[in-house]
Amino acid sequence: MLRDLRCAGADFCEEIAGAQESTFSLVYEGEPRSRVIWETNGFRLIADLSPLSVGHLLLLPVEHYLSFAQLIEERGVELAGVLESVGALYRATFGRLTVLEHGSSAAMKASACISHAHWHLMPVDGNQVNSLITADGLPRSALTDLKQLAPYGGTPYFLCGRPGKYYVYDGQRPMRSQYLRSIVGQVLGIPDPLFDYALVVRKELLRETVARTSGWRSILDGPR
Ligand SMILES: [Zn+2]
Ligand SMILES: [Zn+2]
Repeated sequence: MLRDLRCAGADFCEEIAGAQESTFSLVYEGEPRSRVIWETNGFRLIADLSPLSVGHLLLLPVEHYLSFAQLIEERGVELAGVLESVGALYRATFGRLTVLEHGSSAAMKASACISHAHWHLMPVDGNQVNSLITADGLPRSALTDLKQLAPYGGTPYFLCGRPGKYYVYDGQRPMRSQYLRSIVGQVLGIPDPLFDYALVVRKELLRETVARTSGWRSILDGPR
C-alpha cells in the first residue's frame, strides 16, 4: 500500500477518468465512497488522499496538463470563477485559504512520477509558508494576476499565495522530495518526516474534510 501511495500525482488521470479501483478506493474502502467535492466542466475539487490538515483539498483540471502555468491561457477565466466561488466557501468553512503548487516540467516526465497538474488548497498561513521557502534561498517573483504564471509553463516552479497575491519560486534547484509538504509540515508542527504522504495517512482528517464540505455542491451549483 505504501508503494501505491508513493506517487499521488500519477493516479489522478485514472481516477478522473472514473476508474473503478483507484488508490483512493483501496485506501479508504468505501468510507467515504467519494472524495469529489465539486466539479465544473474543466476542474474537479477533491479531498487530498493523505491530508496534512482538515480542509486539505486539491483542485485539478479534468484535462491533462503538467502545471497550472500550462493551462492558465486556455482555462484562466474558468479558473478565476472557480476560485472566487470556492474561495469564499473555503474561508467560511476553514478560516483561511492558501494555494500551493509544485509545477512540473516535461523533463520530470522521465522520472518515476508523471504529474497531473494540481493545486493544494490549505487553511495554513501563506505568509509563513512564503517565509520558509524564502529562507531556503529560492528566487521568487510576485504575481498580481494569475495570467502572469503562463511563462512558467514547462519549467519546474513552486507557487504559493492566495487570490490576488501569489509568489512563484524558481524550482530549477533540486529540493528534497515532497518539498512543499515538508514546508507545510513545519508550519503545522508535524515532525519530519511525518509529512510524507506515504508514511502516515490521516484518514480521519479526510473524512472530516469530506463531511464539512458535503453541503458545498448544492451551494456552488446554485438553484437549478
Ligand atoms: Zn493526467
Ligand atoms: Zn501535490
